[in-house]
Amino acid sequence: MHHFHYRNGQLHCEERNLQSVAEEHGTPLYVYSANTVRDHYRRLDAALAGLDHHIAYAVKANSNLSVLGLLADLGSGFDIVSGGELFRVIKAGGDPKLCSFAGVGKTAHEIKFALEHKIYCFNIESVAELDLLNEVAGSMRAVAPIAVRINPNVDAKTHEYISTGKAENKFGVDYLAAEEVYQHASTLPHILVRGVQMHIGSQLTTVDPFVEAVERVVPLAAELKARHNIEFFSIGGGIGIVYDPALASGQSEWWEQQAEPPLSPEIYATELVPRLTPLGLKILLEPGRYMVGNAGVLLTTCLYEKKGHAKNFKVVDAGMSDLIRPALYQGHHEIVPVRESAGDSQIKADVVGPICESGDFFCQDRDLADFHADHIVAIMSAGAYSFTMASNYNSRPMPAEVLIDGAEARVVRRRQTLDDLIALEL
Ligand SMILES: *Cc1c(COP(=O)(O)O)cnc(C)c1O
Repeated sequence: MHHFHYRNGQLHCEERNLQSVAEEHGTPLYVYSANTVRDHYRRLDAALAGLDHHIAYAVKANSNLSVLGLLADLGSGFDIVSGGELFRVIKAGGDPKLCSFAGVGKTAHEIKFALEHKIYCFNIESVAELDLLNEVAGSMRAVAPIAVRINPNVDAKTHEYISTGKAENKFGVDYLAAEEVYQHASTLPHILVRGVQMHIGSQLTTVDPFVEAVERVVPLAAELKARHNIEFFSIGGGIGIVYDPALASGQSEWWEQQAEPPLSPEIYATELVPRLTPLGLKILLEPGRYMVGNAGVLLTTCLYEKKGHAKNFKVVDAGMSDLIRPALYQGHHEIVPVRESAGDSQIKADVVGPICESGDFFCQDRDLADFHADHIVAIMSAGAYSFTMASNYNSRPMPAEVLIDGAEARVVRRRQTLDDLIALEL
């Protein structure tokens, strides 16, 4: 479900016409729909209503303070991967006691910061990390709650760069070594064993890998409950969204397909809830992309058209420094004109940015609406892993972000200035 649609031939986000939003704030511009985020949260929460569960939004997908604030208002917890993300959650009004801290490379400094704020759990990924955590907690006369991230060795069948649950990935502790690590944890004076965790990858479009992983870890979770009295099992994030209509099944229009995820929260819940309920543990979920992916677009202006022998290029004012998913993991984003009439004819073209890299494209050889210079286009599904991966490469100021809530459009991060680019240099 999302709130981007054409009305009177103009692309709208909720009640706002994106042409006028772009004219007012300039491009490139990220625009988010508050009600899409709320709807996604509520829909997943409702699908799991029969299960003792809590949602911990994965902050790295979109960490704008206003987006975090929206989720905090709905009662969401947060899955963080750095001290910086914890800082953001706190500034946004989120509750540190609902935060779990993931990642293979937590520093002593970050651990101390998280202990000071009494986060819910450290999801540890190695024995070395567990020992450091025990040491830091000891130095603070504190006790650190932990879960071990289990690598269930399941193929998530997603892009290799976003697959995390196979034995060859750097993530988690080998399934077979888990009991030994828990045994060790239980001997450490400043560690409290609180749960068990897994996260097998991102952008999963079928439920089968989740089922396989849950079935593999459930017996372990039951044993850990009996032996160490754990209270939760986090099944991670990873629910995918529709980026490319050609990959979605069915005959419906792209708009409807994108609105209806291939792996709906209802299917996810139908398959997983019966397998999890008998455990009698609290179930945590860590969705990132599902929550915000289709809640954002990147608006960009076409600067030039360039027709070569082999290719048609549309050069736009956004680049891989603003949205790196196509360059980094061959990510697909639909590209549509904000004024529908701009797309009356079709063309096969590459949409490229201004950056000095051949990888700086948003699509290649794609059949597109034939938009022209000065037209504004929307790069769709740019709510997750988009702004959060932006950089200043080529010394380009980062775009502004606007949050739309009904008829209200609010700048939630101003555009960087040239002075911002050099502000930290001495
Ligand atoms: C990135 C991440 C998530 C979120 O993944 P999505 O695919 O965005 O849902 C959840 N848990 C952990 C540990 C992660 O690293």
